[in-house]
Amino acid sequence: MNGLTVKEIINNSRKPLFTFELLPPQKGHSIDKIYSAIDRLMEFEPSYINFTSHRNEVTLTERSDGLVEKKVIRKRPGTIALAAAVKYKYNVTVVPHVLCGGFTREETENALIEMNFLGINDVLALRGDPPKGTRAFVPEKEGHRYTNELVQQIVDLNNGRYLDPALKNPAPTSFCIGVAGYPEKHFEAPNMTSDIANLKRKVDAGADYIVTQMFFDNNKFFAFRDECYKAGITVPIIPGIKPVTALNDIGLLPQTFHLDLPEELMHELQKCKTDDEVREVGIEWGTLQSRGLLKKEVPGIHFYTLGRSDNIARIVKASY
Ligand code: FAD
Repeated sequence: MNGLTVKEIINNSRKPLFTFELLPPQKGHSIDKIYSAIDRLMEFEPSYINFTSHRNEVTLTERSDGLVEKKVIRKRPGTIALAAAVKYKYNVTVVPHVLCGGFTREETENALIEMNFLGINDVLALRGDPPKGTRAFVPEKEGHRYTNELVQQIVDLNNGRYLDPALKNPAPTSFCIGVAGYPEKHFEAPNMTSDIANLKRKVDAGADYIVTQMFFDNNKFFAFRDECYKAGITVPIIPGIKPVTALNDIGLLPQTFHLDLPEELMHELQKCKTDDEVREVGIEWGTLQSRGLLKKEVPGIHFYTLGRSDNIARIVKASY
């Protein structure tokens, strides 16, 4: 059974890693779709697989009597269970995401204990975005405001420090912790310098490596990596990329992820009339990006699949 953590895998690997991220299925959908996406990519021997986490959402619907009904639902539950199912089915390291937003410290501790009991020793620690329809991130009353605090809680647990100081002989955990970095700056940060200073807080708190937000211009990643080095960040920095797949990505990606689509890519995308044509452009651009990154000593490439894997398979085949 593969019991290595991401940090151990990076340290032991002689070639750049291939890793990818999947979303849990929407409530009511089967896990089989996830297995199909993984089956398509197993031939490329992924070093580990990430699973995103999704907080509760509030929906407001107008009833026939004119009153508004408020419902709190989680559309994509099951991150930890899914990660465990995949770990034992495929004998692969899994990395569930853990969020500050929507969770109290107590709930986070319980989730970490659950992972620990399941033999999962990796997490990607994240703050989470503000809930849809709101602009500012508001932490739970007993929750974390920034990810460096969440990292600190996980490190505390690794040192046997649980929230209840009265526990007798508490068992330490051994989580390897990843955090997010932003080659085009996190959208709330006033400038890149302060964003990288905040990234360093996460590393100083105990993060073992950084995975970046997607980007479409490798130069932005290399410039960001240089700035991180200058700021004294020494942990591995893994670039994250996502191939474009649909016509509406052109508007959606910059708006959702606060990134630029380079002129040259836009030029190709503007010629496309169908999603199939966009997918082909995405595969070509993703292959060029991957080749360029692999030439410049990255520890690996992390692919955002958003549930699709055929395009990722073609990129990996052409570039690794
Ligand atoms: P933080 O590191 O807390 O930073 C948030 C902002 O606060 C930044 O502007 C930063 O500069 C600033 N800041 C940080 N610390 C401090 C401090 N101590 N004092 C003052 N300012 C500070 N979202 C999900 O909901 N689920 C997921 O599964 C998920 N997976 C992701 C995976 C990756 C690889 C990435 C890159 C993002 C993912 N996201 C996910 C999105 C992420 O939650 C958002 O980008 C979120 O807005 C920021 O998260 P963070 O952990 O980078 O926050």
